[in-house]
Amino acid sequence: MKYYSTNGQAPVADLEKAVVKGLAEDRGLYMPEKIHRLPKQFFDDIHTLSFRDIAYNVASNFFGDDVDMDALQDIVYDTLSFDCPVVEVSPNIYALELFHGPTLAFKDVGARFMARLLGYFLRRRAGAADGVVNVLVATSGDTGSAVANGFLGVEGIHVYVLYPKGKVSPIQECQFTTLGQNITAVEVDGVFDDCQRLVKSAFMDEELNRHMRLTSANSINVARFLPQAFYYFNAYARLKEQIVNSKSSNSKSLVMCVPSGNFGNICSALFGHQMGLPVSRFIAANNANDVVYQYLKTGKYEPKASIQTLANAMDVGDPSNFARIVNLYSKNGELTEEQTHKAITALISGATYSDEQIKQTMKQCYKETGYVLDPHGACGYQALKDGLRDGEIGVFCETAHPAKFKEKVDDILGIDIEIPDRLKAFMEGEKQSVEMTNSFDDFKAYLMKQ
Ligand SMILES: *Cc1c(COP(=O)(O)O)cnc(C)c1O
Repeated sequence: MKYYSTNGQAPVADLEKAVVKGLAEDRGLYMPEKIHRLPKQFFDDIHTLSFRDIAYNVASNFFGDDVDMDALQDIVYDTLSFDCPVVEVSPNIYALELFHGPTLAFKDVGARFMARLLGYFLRRRAGAADGVVNVLVATSGDTGSAVANGFLGVEGIHVYVLYPKGKVSPIQECQFTTLGQNITAVEVDGVFDDCQRLVKSAFMDEELNRHMRLTSANSINVARFLPQAFYYFNAYARLKEQIVNSKSSNSKSLVMCVPSGNFGNICSALFGHQMGLPVSRFIAANNANDVVYQYLKTGKYEPKASIQTLANAMDVGDPSNFARIVNLYSKNGELTEEQTHKAITALISGATYSDEQIKQTMKQCYKETGYVLDPHGACGYQALKDGLRDGEIGVFCETAHPAKFKEKVDDILGIDIEIPDRLKAFMEGEKQSVEMTNSFDDFKAYLMKQ
């Protein structure tokens, strides 16, 4: 499979190049040239398959030309060492729980898959003496922990996690500062935007790129966002299983609702839809950062500075994967802006919630159903409550374990939520970090010495 750039000014790349480089030369995002539909038989039998085997089928569809089949199976099986169950929360509304991975966030799936795929490419080239690949990642909390844990111990790769000093929660911080080995936490005296600027400047600095091989591990990377499609297929299978077993609600159409920030997660679901996943429509649930919501309403895309909210992993004012969605539904620029907007709104609707509404939803859901939502999942749940029509069944992604936002959740619900053992184990480790100013000269000097 070849990958082209959404900006159309860079040469097509093979999968290895797309994964190792992350971003195309023209700063565009890589897109697969073809999205093959999966055969009818696969969907007929899907409820009899395990999560891992469903994922392996989906992965083969994308990566099968470029990765040896046995190796791909190992990568998929090894990535999915945990389950993503579908749980009924209220009538016709199901939570797709994506928080059972090592850092309790859905980003574990993409991060683990990317780490293993990159490791595979490096081993395959062994002897080419290219040296270590260095992954730079800026984080406001969640991405850093998933990426650091996904890449922990993978040979040939070193990860630098840049985070703003004093601005991530203690639980989040310990998830990437206590690991050691091939993970270095860089504690930047500044805000998240400084971290992101340092990373972007590093990618553009020629001298630094001659000195070391750099790549990015956020959701612009095809190896990180595409594997997220796995769990949508699995959710469909598990629902089908429940419905086949109960012989009820057979004819209901399925709505998928995704709490969105950079729109990588929903983008993978849309790729799944192109592969034939029987979903009738999608809802992108936002917090107060409503740039895409406004686009869906007006057809105008106007990026803004992000606003801080309770659901902070969705505080994005210019979602990077929006370009992928536009490219997909414009058929790589064949359609006009108006036609593209029409195609997008025929399939996707939006929702936006203030912090006050998020709190209200969390309280009400807990009172009525006993289910503890985290602030991100709350946006998804409420969007289904508000938007589900007769004859539909809705699944929303619960993207993080509520204990990751313990102080907020306890405070809002008046409970004392238990911290899972996995999270406690991180909190017992010893913090190690490199202190850094927010000046690129200092960061570059540091990297030049590595
Ligand atoms: C990253 C994240 C999101 C947003 O996902 P995108 O792929 O950026 O849209 C939502 N919830 C949580 C908990 C996250 O960590």
